[in-house]
Amino acid sequence: MKLKKAERELVRQKYDGHCAYCGVLLGDRWHADHLEPVIRVVDERVAEHIDNHNLGNMMPACAPCNISKGRQTLEGWRDWIAGHVSSLNNYHPIYRMAKSYGLIAETGTPVVFYFEKVTP
Ligand SMILES: [Zn+2]
Repeated sequence: MKLKKAERELVRQKYDGHCAYCGVLLGDRWHADHLEPVIRVVDERVAEHIDNHNLGNMMPACAPCNISKGRQTLEGWRDWIAGHVSSLNNYHPIYRMAKSYGLIAETGTPVVFYFEKVTP
């Protein structure tokens, strides 16, 4: 499952060295993510999609994005990220207080990944 050094470099350069998801410029520590997960959990059943382990399905990702995405599909992950604002409102008093003092403005902006912006 490990990529060869040259393959890894191809993945890293896919978006000119940026994380495919958030767009941060990748440093030395970055992850080769499977866009379509190799292992996926659906209804508590674990399905292996070993055919998803190919260069076309690999995305350069920063560690926080890769860890956050985990085994989720892109659309599942997108919905999950979009839900972070309501999680902040429900569970984080500091966030609510900052919001009540006008320090935070929620935009309702849809979650658009970096690769979707740079790929026509
Ligand atoms: Zn990222």
